[in-house]
Amino acid sequence: MNDVGLPRTALLRDARPVLRERGQREVFCGLTSIVWLHRKMQDAFFLVVGSRTCAHLIQSAAGVMIFAEPRFGTAILTDRDLAGLADVNAELDRIALSLLARRPDIRTLFLVGSCPSEVIKLDLAKAAERLNATLLPRVRVINYSGSGIETTFTQGEDLALKALTPLLPATDARQLLVLGCLPDIVEDQFRRIFDALGIGPVAFLPARHAQELPAVGANTLLLPAQPFNGEALRALVARGAVPVAAPYPFGALGSTAWFEAAARACGVDRVTIDRVLQPLQARAMTALAHYRQTLAGRRIFFMPDSQLEVPLARFVSAELGMELTEVGTPFLDRQMVGADLDLLPAAATLSEGQHLEQQLERVRALRPDLTVCGLGLANPLEAEGLSTKWSIELVFSPVHGFDQAGDLAELFARPLNRKARLAA
Ligand code: SF4
Repeated sequence: MNDVGLPRTALLRDARPVLRERGQREVFCGLTSIVWLHRKMQDAFFLVVGSRTCAHLIQSAAGVMIFAEPRFGTAILTDRDLAGLADVNAELDRIALSLLARRPDIRTLFLVGSCPSEVIKLDLAKAAERLNATLLPRVRVINYSGSGIETTFTQGEDLALKALTPLLPATDARQLLVLGCLPDIVEDQFRRIFDALGIGPVAFLPARHAQELPAVGANTLLLPAQPFNGEALRALVARGAVPVAAPYPFGALGSTAWFEAAARACGVDRVTIDRVLQPLQARAMTALAHYRQTLAGRRIFFMPDSQLEVPLARFVSAELGMELTEVGTPFLDRQMVGADLDLLPAAATLSEGQHLEQQLERVRALRPDLTVCGLGLANPLEAEGLSTKWSIELVFSPVHGFDQAGDLAELFARPLNRKARLAA
């Protein structure tokens, strides 16, 4: 057992066999991350440079967005003759400038690339440079790719944050920087806990206002809050930041381990760590006990989708007693998920990448009690009598930290309870 009561497996990290698969995959593209990024960065606008398909995705795949204050849009490029590429550039500039003239509240404009061939031929970095030449410092234009060819849906956030990294001011001050988009309610809770631990100053990337970029430097401790921001993490490390390795703050034990790792790195004493974290852990464990009754011993299969799979598998097995059949992840980034990986039971199959048909055959053969998968797979599997949980819901919902431990468990319990009610 380690300090927070998490059982360590006997396996060395690199000794675990990984089933690597390549083939058809079923994952949303990086544009999807605009759904939660636009809510977080209140002075930013995300202009997708794409096709009608892209517009349809961001408007309707996440239906919640149509009720939101629009801070996203699509510059639609059609089958125009790309011999006139200069015209396309002029058209993009015209759309961006007229948007900014209409919306003086926009302080950061993200140009988000996509995969239609018309867009691939456009140099969005050059477009951002061109627009910055006229717009800076009132508005900053940044570009990144959300293309389905290059990105899965959570990689959109990674690339957006990576694109911000060169713009962060430099600092030598000692500070903690939390990396990853968190709902404001979670960020506020985390700030209160860091305060109680005596840790400060603490900054978050992304901040609530894209304009308020945190600083970074050699005395910055970098604490990832989302496992899918590996590129952004490495860009910040290149700026001098020192990463803190820990399991992710999911559940009672994961949250304790995460805050404890930060506290230790910041030199907080044992007595303070226990005084602050133990009551929070105890309360979260009480919330989890209720769900353990439903979930302990139930078999779960994670399809590769959000990159949250390894930390969530750690949570459901260590804290809810669920049995892991297969834990699939689109990419196994050991730097990002190593601490959670070390805590997975040895019997769980770990797979990286996807060959959809082969993986579905394994699901059908295993018939797990619950399959965590993308939206497109949920209905067909439900039709075969299998219970599913949309992985994207685990990204949208506030699930980090002690206060959300019960809500996170509820997301796994709900499909099983629904099935039990239908069967009664
Ligand atoms: Fe647009 Fe490509 Fe995403 Fe489809 S996969 S919505 S074409 S970026």
